[in-house]
Amino acid sequence: MSERAKILGAVWNLPREVSEVKGKDPGTYLQFNSHMVTFYQQTYGELSRFFLALRAGRLIGAHCEKCRQVMVPAASWHCPTCNFAEMREIELPHRGVLAATAPITIFPSASFIGDAPFARGYVDVATDAPIASFLPSRLRTTTGLPRPGIFVKGVELKLVFEDVREGSIRDIFWVPMKEVPAALRDAKPLLASKLDFNTPPMPEVARDAAGEQALARALAAVEELAAKVGASPRAQKDLAGRTHAIGVRTGGGDFTLHVADARIRVGAGLPPKPDFVMVVADAGVFSRWVADGSLTDAAVEGALWLPHKEAFGVLPILDRLPRSVRRDAK
Ligand SMILES: [Zn+2]
Repeated sequence: MSERAKILGAVWNLPREVSEVKGKDPGTYLQFNSHMVTFYQQTYGELSRFFLALRAGRLIGAHCEKCRQVMVPAASWHCPTCNFAEMREIELPHRGVLAATAPITIFPSASFIGDAPFARGYVDVATDAPIASFLPSRLRTTTGLPRPGIFVKGVELKLVFEDVREGSIRDIFWVPMKEVPAALRDAKPLLASKLDFNTPPMPEVARDAAGEQALARALAAVEELAAKVGASPRAQKDLAGRTHAIGVRTGGGDFTLHVADARIRVGAGLPPKPDFVMVVADAGVFSRWVADGSLTDAAVEGALWLPHKEAFGVLPILDRLPRSVRRDAK
């Protein structure tokens, strides 16, 4: 039997130790690490019915026959606007419309570290009802990292269920309907394992003379940065222990950014086995990076395409280099 996940991970623990602390008087005092923990169980109450349905691969809402409003998730089974008349369970479609352009979270709260960047939005599922609540949900794309322009107001969405469900709002998410193969669009439920999130297709970039000039300037800038990294202990510390072969596709051609032995190096073309490939129409993104700009910002704004969040995690390391080099040059 596999071990069940625990509420508190090891990260929440502290070493058993006594340490010294300087007082203002001034004196030396001792302090010790201790703990205070309370576990509790909470029921979903009336919401249980909604989450039991999710576990069974169904999406349900509460419908009032008097005012015809639909509540999803059903926070109550008694209509708050019709003197608490009993509401009826209705089966909702596994497709919906995004009610408002969704924000993308880049820097999440502690509970979601490692999940970013991600998008959450409000989905209109009961589109025929005169009044309906919007379902707050996770939004995912099969085309790489979530970026501006995908989850915009009015986009049609398909409901997807995680293969293993526990009875929580994380059991479901939505993907743009146009990313779902036609044969799967009416699947009820559509399981996450039927879609491919791991190998997103690289976006096409048009190659032209202006793009080639931008690439030549960018490569010269990156070569210059690479030389400075060789003379910067701070930058070498940033790269310590890392090995990457990062493919870069631009509107002027391709190159590789190698990270190894606490140095960066530029190679020609895409590597045979890249860690990942990033795509920019304008290679100027890399010139601006070297001039104290930010690859992270370029990814957030949508100018730099990345396949997955692991790729996103490498950018802050690279973004430190121009700053570290400048500080060591002083
Ligand atoms: Zn009502």
